[in-house]
Amino acid sequence: MNSSSSSSSGGSMVGGPADPEHDPAATYALEPDEVASLTRRLVATAGETAVSVSPLDGAPLAHIPQSSDADVDEAFRRARSAQRSWARTSFAERQELLLRLHDLVLDRQAEIVDLIVLESGKARKHAFDEPLHIALTARYYGRTLGSHLGTRRVPGALPGLTRVEVAHVPKGVVGVISPWNYPFTMALCDGLAALAAGNAVVIKPDAQTMLSALLAARLLDEAGFPPDVWQVVAGDGPQVGGRIVGQADYICFTGSTATGKRIAAGCAERLIGCSLELGGKNPMLVLRDADIERAAEGAVRAVYSNAGQLCVSIERMFVADEVYDRFVDRFVARTEAMTLGATLDWGNDMGPLISRRQLDVVTAHVEDAVDKGARVLTGGRARPDLAPYFFEPTVLEGVTPEMTCFDQETFGPVVSLYRFHSEDEAIARANDGDYGLNAAVFSRDGARARQVARRIVAGTVNVNEAFAASFASLGAPMGGMRRSGLGRRQGAEGLLRYTESQTVATQRLVPMAPAFGVSDEAYAKMMSAGLRLFRKLGRA
Ligand code: NAD
Repeated sequence: MNSSSSSSSGGSMVGGPADPEHDPAATYALEPDEVASLTRRLVATAGETAVSVSPLDGAPLAHIPQSSDADVDEAFRRARSAQRSWARTSFAERQELLLRLHDLVLDRQAEIVDLIVLESGKARKHAFDEPLHIALTARYYGRTLGSHLGTRRVPGALPGLTRVEVAHVPKGVVGVISPWNYPFTMALCDGLAALAAGNAVVIKPDAQTMLSALLAARLLDEAGFPPDVWQVVAGDGPQVGGRIVGQADYICFTGSTATGKRIAAGCAERLIGCSLELGGKNPMLVLRDADIERAAEGAVRAVYSNAGQLCVSIERMFVADEVYDRFVDRFVARTEAMTLGATLDWGNDMGPLISRRQLDVVTAHVEDAVDKGARVLTGGRARPDLAPYFFEPTVLEGVTPEMTCFDQETFGPVVSLYRFHSEDEAIARANDGDYGLNAAVFSRDGARARQVARRIVAGTVNVNEAFAASFASLGAPMGGMRRSGLGRRQGAEGLLRYTESQTVATQRLVPMAPAFGVSDEAYAKMMSAGLRLFRKLGRA
């Protein structure tokens, strides 16, 4: 594996380390004015701050003001008030703002990507996926909100006499609780759909990546969204997140399955809805007719994007016996050719993990597997010489059910390889466990691969790609089955989750009851005859 040692800021607010050669003690600094201007967007008046750290060098990055209970309440008060007029804006007005945001995000991508890399440590090419995803989201909902949300006529009880319209009304104030792994896109993509549907948002991003989320809020302001429809609060997950769950009209949560269960319980208590985008232990199947070079290339992105800290990344690979050795050879070679580094420039194929906690989890999973007999084909070690929380891209063989990484999410750059003899067996093993978020199938025969895909228990299945094909297809819903979540983001579902269906039925000319002297008995006979007739005519 190669290690990159160059650095460059590529943006205006970030200064790189003084030494152009890699220096583990070097710090990346943010302009204090810039931090202050971003954190002004927070509702946080109590005077307490928390320090965030850059995974590039482990050095303190910014002091983030923390929100008290009263601040969260104030954020909801402002959001509720702003939502009433926001809900009355036309679809055309919302469309214009969304498309303006699309342009703004593409124009300002260098600044956005710098901040993401600085806060999360991910390789620049993986950080670029975030403004890209937001541009796709803004364009998709900008172009389609009218068709998804428009009031529609449906057949009434009495044809010609009962006129029925179904409208989608906003829920009110949506609480968004987002994770650190995709700090810009996760702080924006779900909330954008909530805004498009006429809601206001109170968001609590993860404490480690507040600045990326605050930059997202600033871009919304610059695009022209009324500032009060988007409130940002900061603080401890259970405390601030819990207060959001206690007041919102709907919760959109992305994070771990353990936290998701707690949030679902809080929502159940208040009888409000929620969507939960949770963890996975995603499988990839390499069928015997797969293009091996393409599968190996896809596997590298499948496993190591954002150092594996991606809910839809692949942690289990099932490879047909006939091609196993060739595939493993190519995959390991491509893994070892990756450039590793913790810098702001484009040169790295993979960056460090986000935190000591994440490094400890990944190290523990690999050590546990090795202690119980798994073989390390490549990687397997922390690399503090590159950055404090760096872990090498790691391929394991011989992983068995008693090892932690067999069925528990590692959320790091570690994959287990398994050989299979029949596709039925591979599908059954892929479907083992409690998760069901994402899967991938590689085969030269698209139709056969799609048949296999439909038998896999997962909310998204990608053919000849790992996750990007489904994730970047904004018209398609994305989310998990089983313990990987509830509800869907993206597509019509991603918008309609934030609305209540409201039916307005207008009865004309005759009441829905006997009239003009018709007896109850005659009315019952007429209605029965009418129903039989409609059944014959094939009406709904
Ligand atoms: P986490 O559940 O610890 O934290 C996620 C968010 O929830 C953070 O903002 C945190 O402050 C907040 N939080 C924590 N406890 C809370 C509580 N009791 N009440 C309210 N809010 C609370 O998750 P994490 O470890 O930061 O993120 C990694 C996990 O997220 C992984 O399991 C990953 O698979 C999952 N994830 C899923 C998706 C998806 O789309 N399915 C995307 C990204 C991450």
